Amino acid sequence: MAKFAIRSISEPTISRSRPINIMFDEGVSASESKAVLDGLTQVLNIANAPHLQISNLGRWRGAGWLVNVNHLTEWNSVDWYVRYAEQQSRKGQLHGGKLLQLLYSEPWQESQPHYDIMVTSRDIYDDDCSFCIGLAIHGFGTIISTSRFRVLSDQDAYDCVVTETMHEVGHVFGLVPGTRTTNVEMSLGLHCTNRCIMRQGLRVPYDWQVITADRLQGHEFCADCRRDLKRYFCE
Ligand SMILES: [Zn+2]
Ligand SMILES: [Zn+2]
Repeated sequence: MAKFAIRSISEPTISRSRPINIMFDEGVSASESKAVLDGLTQVLNIANAPHLQISNLGRWRGAGWLVNVNHLTEWNSVDWYVRYAEQQSRKGQLHGGKLLQLLYSEPWQESQPHYDIMVTSRDIYDDDCSFCIGLAIHGFGTIISTSRFRVLSDQDAYDCVVTETMHEVGHVFGLVPGTRTTNVEMSLGLHCTNRCIMRQGLRVPYDWQVITADRLQGHEFCADCRRDLKRYFCE
């Protein structure tokens, strides 16, 4: 079974209009990277927040990131983040929750507040789910895994990764808010029940192909989610 999880934390008191850092691990393809950037751009436009600065760090490696094959400098490369999380993961799968918490703990998050998006080609899981395709923290960031869409054709995989990115970034920007009382369900975090990309999709990739087909027919964010998304940047 596939699951999404969203953890609600106290909303940061810092501005919501802060830069977005994106990082990709070494396995992510050019097409997958493009799909993530495409999805992110679409959400920012819909949210009336196209002014947010996007820093595509790619497969980021700071100066001196590699001491030797067994020792990577802390906080200084995508490789270090992944390896650190890997050391706390079970075999063959990456603990997405640990990776997300690691991003959350970045030493410079306080001095340079930003949103984080990390994309991995590895299959991920969390404490409460055997696998998931994305994890998000309201007001902070998300881990997106492309792994489970690789069984699809190139075009379908691309379209599903766009949808998945829009969904996860939607969570980062506050969807679905706890204040909503209609068209909402609790299924590993609050999700929308309209014909909308904020629906929960437990069967992967099937549900996401359906949600994606709807998106391509104009049902991306429903009116409720669109309203809540715009509100996020107005408060
Ligand atoms: Zn979700
Ligand atoms: Zn919705």
